[in-house]
Amino acid sequence: SGSLVAYSESQTDVSNTSVKIDEKDCKKRRVVVLGTGWAGISFLKDLDVSTHDVQVISPRNYFAFTPLLPSVTCGTVEARSIVEPVRNIIKKRNGEIQFCEAECIKIDAANKKILCRSTFDNNLVGNEEFSLGYDYLVIAVGAQVNTFNTPGVVENCHFLKEVEDAQKIRRSVIDCFEKAVLPGLSEEERRINLHFVIVGGGPTGVEFAAELHDYVQEDLVNLYPTVKDLVKITVIQSGDHILNMFDERISSFAEQKFSRDGIEVQTGCRVISVSDKEITMKLKSKGEVCSVPHGLVVWSTGVETRPVVKDFMGQIGQGRRRVLATDEWLRVKGCADVYALGDCATINQRKVMEDIATIFKAADKDNSGALTVKEFQDVIDDILERYPQVEHYLKSKHLSDVTDLLKDPEGNARDEVDIEGFKLALSHVDSQMKNLPATAQVAAQQGAYLSKCFNRRQQCEDNPEGPRRFKGSGRHQFHPFRYKHLGQFAPLGGEQAAAELPGDWVSIGHSTQWLWYSVYASKQVSWRTRLLVVSDWTRRFIFGRDSSR
Ligand code: FAD
Ligand code: MG
Ligand code: MG
Ligand code: MG
Ligand code: MG
Repeated sequence: SGSLVAYSESQTDVSNTSVKIDEKDCKKRRVVVLGTGWAGISFLKDLDVSTHDVQVISPRNYFAFTPLLPSVTCGTVEARSIVEPVRNIIKKRNGEIQFCEAECIKIDAANKKILCRSTFDNNLVGNEEFSLGYDYLVIAVGAQVNTFNTPGVVENCHFLKEVEDAQKIRRSVIDCFEKAVLPGLSEEERRINLHFVIVGGGPTGVEFAAELHDYVQEDLVNLYPTVKDLVKITVIQSGDHILNMFDERISSFAEQKFSRDGIEVQTGCRVISVSDKEITMKLKSKGEVCSVPHGLVVWSTGVETRPVVKDFMGQIGQGRRRVLATDEWLRVKGCADVYALGDCATINQRKVMEDIATIFKAADKDNSGALTVKEFQDVIDDILERYPQVEHYLKSKHLSDVTDLLKDPEGNARDEVDIEGFKLALSHVDSQMKNLPATAQVAAQQGAYLSKCFNRRQQCEDNPEGPRRFKGSGRHQFHPFRYKHLGQFAPLGGEQAAAELPGDWVSIGHSTQWLWYSVYASKQVSWRTRLLVVSDWTRRFIFGRDSSR
């Protein structure tokens, strides 16, 4: 058959239907899930627990709605409103999901075991370390803040990654104001205490800067009138623009709004060290080094792989990579029965050029050595599914019809192409390969996708003969993961937000902020947190933010 199975890697461990399992021997498969963030929780939500024995390990016994973390830093939303206990989420599943508050400290891939350490370090917990066996392991541990080994960052900067980080920032901001109004300080000293520096001009850093600016202007200037003109907020960005992963229109709107608001944006600037008093940076263009005194620094420059995952990568021959690689089915490369998703992993997309000969052979059904437009059309859906870069390429070249790919270099239509012509036609598509961003949206979609694969695997084993898929009997039982981008928001303060929506839509302004409110209310994991978040917003509109420490 002309199926694509022929030229994808073998799928035996997922869609192997030949294993006959005796009813009595059919023990439930033991699935161990590491992490209770976006990826882990979305996996657990849809997993069929009647066929799996599920053990969840995470050092945090709650799920945190990270997109609202910046709002927690200034008390716009309370920390309690954006977290949902894991046990609340899993109890709805008849207690068949076990949870353990512990950290996985080692993955032993060869023996299908993991080693964990409980997060409690008092004497009451005798057995601090324990190991667990698994049939399938799902790694969803997220990533950690990347300091780029910059000296002094860990000691002197705040991060904005976890709920505790946001709470600490909230207290420290107030501390800065209280210190600034103590008697006996010079104006310069007050100014230094009120200099807030944000390192990193990505979505999180920018949103925090905007949130802090609103907090100062709407609430704190009234409470600390004597120092209200001494406050300064600086965003340091190594690239040329803030929000550079967004559409240009959004990034320049944000820069203009910040400059109107008096938030200083320093681009092209790399931080080289941070002390408790000063932040030292290098201007890329001039190579000049300068130090600026600060009251508080928030470090938000992206993420890197956690040590436990790094160690695992070494065991399975991925030691030289930066991020754990999986295939398009989220299976870790080089290690059977282990899956990874969310921020801790990246999908290693196959290149069209690697498979070009097999694609050609599968498409050329009559073995004529030439591919007709008709033959190409017959397999194009499979190609688009297997190689998302083809679609990105068509978009970037504004080609509406895929058969345009087969036109000759002068742009004339051809009836058929040979292998060399086919290679030439597709030679540039791989340049459009993109890594998926480290976002909640990707993590959640991957979790939902993987649970479907797990649920269907059981069905396939129970019922090996079918039901067959309609199209081309040899097609995959399991489609590869496909990300669907639903758009992204950037709240910019002053009740204004920017949004990048699918299909090149950009929307900026007050109405977008309302869209933001409604989307984020609807995305809450439970009605409980939804009510809490909405009432926090309402409270803030009426009474302002709570500025007590
Ligand atoms: P996480 O959500 O980080 O979850 C990891 C889980 O693993 C946690 O439960 C952790 O406790 C646990 N864990 C850690 N180590 C271990 C271990 N050794 N053993 C067991 N468990 C472990 N994305 C968006 O799409 N939109 C946004 O608006 C947005 N805003 C954000 C704002 C902030 C401030 C931050 C920090 C992130 C934001 N993100 C946003 C990104 C989003 O939060 C992440 O992409 C997402 O959380 C990734 O999900 P994950 O499950 O891979 O990791
Ligand atoms: Mg997770
Ligand atoms: Mg999370
Ligand atoms: Mg990822
Ligand atoms: Mg042919």
